[in-house]
Order: sequence, then C-alpha cells, then structure tokens
Amino acid sequence: MFDTHVHTGFSCDSNLEIEEVIDFLEKNQGKKVIITEHMDFKFPVKGLFIFDKDEFFEEYSKYRNENLLLGVELGLRTDCEYQAKKVLSDERFDYILGSVHTMDGTDIANGHFYDRYNEEELMVKYLETILNCINKYPEIDSLGHIDFITRYSAKEDSKFIIPETLQLIDSIVEKLVEKDICVEINTRRIHVENAYNELRHFLTLYKEKGGKYVTVGSDSHSDSALFSGFSTAKKLADEVNLQIVYYKKRKRIIDGW
Ligand SMILES: [Zn+2]
Ligand SMILES: [Zn+2]
Repeated sequence: MFDTHVHTGFSCDSNLEIEEVIDFLEKNQGKKVIITEHMDFKFPVKGLFIFDKDEFFEEYSKYRNENLLLGVELGLRTDCEYQAKKVLSDERFDYILGSVHTMDGTDIANGHFYDRYNEEELMVKYLETILNCINKYPEIDSLGHIDFITRYSAKEDSKFIIPETLQLIDSIVEKLVEKDICVEINTRRIHVENAYNELRHFLTLYKEKGGKYVTVGSDSHSDSALFSGFSTAKKLADEVNLQIVYYKKRKRIIDGW
C-alpha cells in the first residue's frame, strides 16, 4: 500500500524528515511511500517551495528501494513552461504529481482572492487554471488535490462543483481521460463530509467518461499524517469503481489493497 504524496526535508513547509519516514516503514510492514517534494517555480516568495533536483537525487538516491520511491509534486502554472518541462522529462523521478497551487501568479493558500472575485467567479477561475495547466502539461501522472481551493476558501462549506463550473469540470475530466492522467484521492480533507462528497462526484464523472485509475496520497508534512484517511480513500475508490495505482519509473502499477 503506497502513500503517494509525502513531503520531507526538501519541502520548506514539512516537519517530517526522511529518517522518520524510513523508521515508520520499518515499523509498518507493507506500507510504502513516494516522496513528493514541492517544486513550484516562480513561487511568490522567492526560494520557497523549490529544491535542487541534483541535490535531491544526490542525497536521497541511497534511500530508494521497493518501499520508498522518489517523485515530485510539480506546481503547475501556465508560465514557467521551460522549467516545468525539464522536470517532466527528468527520468530520475518515479512519479510526477501535478498540482495547481497558484492562480494569476498568486499563492492560493494566501491569496486574497475575495477582494477580486466572488465565490462563483473564484471557482471558475480556479478550474480554468487547472484546465489550462492540464492542456499544457499532459505528461503528469496524476492530478493532485482537485479540491485545493476549498481548503483555503473563506466559506466553511465552499464547493467547487457548482452550476457555474459544470461545463469546465466536464472539460477537465475529458482531458484527464484523453491524456491518461490519474486523479489523486488526497486524504487531507477526506474526513470532511462535503469534501468527500465533492470528490466522489468528481470521480464519478471521471469514471463515466472512461477514467480508470486513482492515486492515494496523504499530503503528509508530519509523521502523524502518513496514511491518514486511507481506509476512507479505499471505500471511496471502491464506491466509484476506480483502481488504486502507484508509479515506479513513471510506469503505472496496480496497488493491491
Ligand atoms: Zn499540493
Ligand atoms: Zn503536497
């Protein structure tokens, strides 16, 4: 069972060290991880959420084995194409998770978007960004946390699937299927009923259009978060009839759990 979304020392916001992950894996036989450090080019705060690939492989290659693979969480944005393509073509990565963290060059987690947009406009803008990024970077293996915007929304019960976004959601799902990109079940908010239901709705549409696979990731930044919510993720994958997979050397492998 792979946790395919784990941040350690090369992610500036992580409290988890690689040694703790190794310790965890030794104590929890059958559990495996893919390290996915943040690679966000041109992040609004210089030097944050970025790492040197050569340094990373120099330091972490010795840890790579069948229980610990080396991937990356690539921050998708419509500019910085040259740098992003260099990551996407770097054959040293086992797995590339593509995630949208910025909109209009602004960090979604800290963006004061409500000064500019109302809730509906914000969701449309966010999903347009995702669609543009998938069109630009179809090489990604899986699309990370589709519901990212709702983590940081001003509204408690914020939803990204609303009448105004249905058409966009359809286009995103169609593009994911066409480009053979998986969808991530990010377990960070899976315990929240509204978040679970929206993800379920999204995955149901993905399945209807021909999607087959999901990855499951905790988005851990501490050891207590590793594999959190995985039984709920499994229940969700079973409900929507999608197969859980992981990636090794950029090849999709069915994860049997
Ligand atoms: Zn992310
Ligand atoms: Zn992450």
